Amino acid sequence: MTGGEPLIGIVGSGIAGLRAAKALLRCKVDARIVIFGDEVHRTYNRPGLTKRRYPLSDTPEMAIAEDLKVNGVEHKALTWRLDTRVESADLRNKVLGLSTGESFAYHALVIAAGVRPRTSVEGTNECTFHTHRTLRSLDDAQHIHNELQTSKKITIAGAGFVACELASLAKEYGCEVVMLEAMRNGPFENILGKRIAIALRRWITQNGVTFLTGDSAKELLCRRSDASNLEFSSNRSLFIEAIGSVPNVEWLQGNGLDLSDGVRVDEYMRVPECEDVFAAGDIARYPDPWTTESLTRMEFWKNAIDTGDLAGRSVASSLGHDSKTSRIGYFPSIATEVFGLRVQIAGNPKISDSMELVCGDLDQLDCGVLVKFLRAEVMVGVAYLDKGARFNSVYIELLKSLKAH
Ligand SMILES: Cc1cc2nc3c(=O)[nH]c(=O)nc-3n(C[C@H](O)[C@H](O)[C@H](O)COP(=O)(O)OP(=O)(O)OC[C@H]3O[C@@H](n4cnc5c(N)ncnc54)[C@H](O)[C@@H]3O)c2cc1C
Repeated sequence: MTGGEPLIGIVGSGIAGLRAAKALLRCKVDARIVIFGDEVHRTYNRPGLTKRRYPLSDTPEMAIAEDLKVNGVEHKALTWRLDTRVESADLRNKVLGLSTGESFAYHALVIAAGVRPRTSVEGTNECTFHTHRTLRSLDDAQHIHNELQTSKKITIAGAGFVACELASLAKEYGCEVVMLEAMRNGPFENILGKRIAIALRRWITQNGVTFLTGDSAKELLCRRSDASNLEFSSNRSLFIEAIGSVPNVEWLQGNGLDLSDGVRVDEYMRVPECEDVFAAGDIARYPDPWTTESLTRMEFWKNAIDTGDLAGRSVASSLGHDSKTSRIGYFPSIATEVFGLRVQIAGNPKISDSMELVCGDLDQLDCGVLVKFLRAEVMVGVAYLDKGARFNSVYIELLKSLKAH
């Protein structure tokens, strides 16, 4: 590496990478910034991939890409290297190996490579009965929206946020939908517990989806074992796996980092084992501001924004700039919509030991249900499910006391 202005590499052109770059530019660091992204697209609104149906058109791909554009940044200090995968990293010598065969020497590195969908079976996308898909990228979504427009039947493995949104979307496209949840009783059980999961399953079933659990679900999980015989190609239905995600850490192996669940960082997004290396977004596992004794990794848009900003400011501070760095103080909140039912979750219900119904009736979700989650009798989370906004003022009050916690 020659002298001159420092070179900052950002791996990942998603929202966390973009926000880290923006924060660096705001801090007016005298550095060159290079963002590497293995997708061909600039940063886009990933949550939007499942949020709405697109009308039939000759070029649905263009319509989706246009709709989900995120305000980027053009700056002479910033270079975008899209369609370029970082394949290896030598963190001791500060060099990245790129898919183009080049290497890239940096002074500081931000890891914002996100996650990818977990799959039960690696391999072909086709079997005798199905076209198999997962959904993470704009390209995946373009395929899926296209296929939903012409599919009659779709099977979705999983019952998390992406699976539920996909089920709603597929119904809007007019498909017959089967959901398979082999491990639990219904949606979001790992976050909201069994009673709400069962209530949500009932809601989804009432909206025309066949929702199978346990052995009935297991029986329909496709292992793609019969990929050799593709003669029924015209009859194949869509099978989407939405069964969780895996952090994109493989390119970091061999550097002595703790990669057991993403990349471990401290409360300033610094990788403790390595000076001048930072991580942000879905891939970063940081000290949970809510529990002090554990680490957390969040896969939410707002978390990627906040940690991306913080990583950028921490890089600036490591280069000697006064960047007003403050430790992560993220307040977790997420919202989704399942067949018109808005589900809002705030705080960290996962760490609760009990649940209290504040308003409503779990048998009538569409009339509104507000629940609080407690740990040692202290509120640690809230969930509000409603078709309208009946209990909004109570929800806001609960949020205020949760934030004051
Ligand atoms: C369908 C869907 C719906 C969602 N809905 C919501 C929602 O409603 N609300 C919400 O809060 N969150 C939602 N999320 C989650 C949210 O999108 C993520 O939390 C957020 O996008 C994470 O941003 P990130 O920048 O950390 O990672 P990503 O957005 O995954 O960006 C990482 C980028 O790095 C690239 N990359 C990976 N490895 C390499 C490499 N080695 N070299 C170069 N590039 C690499 C990846 O291809 C990707 O482009 C949703 C996600 C999906 C998939």
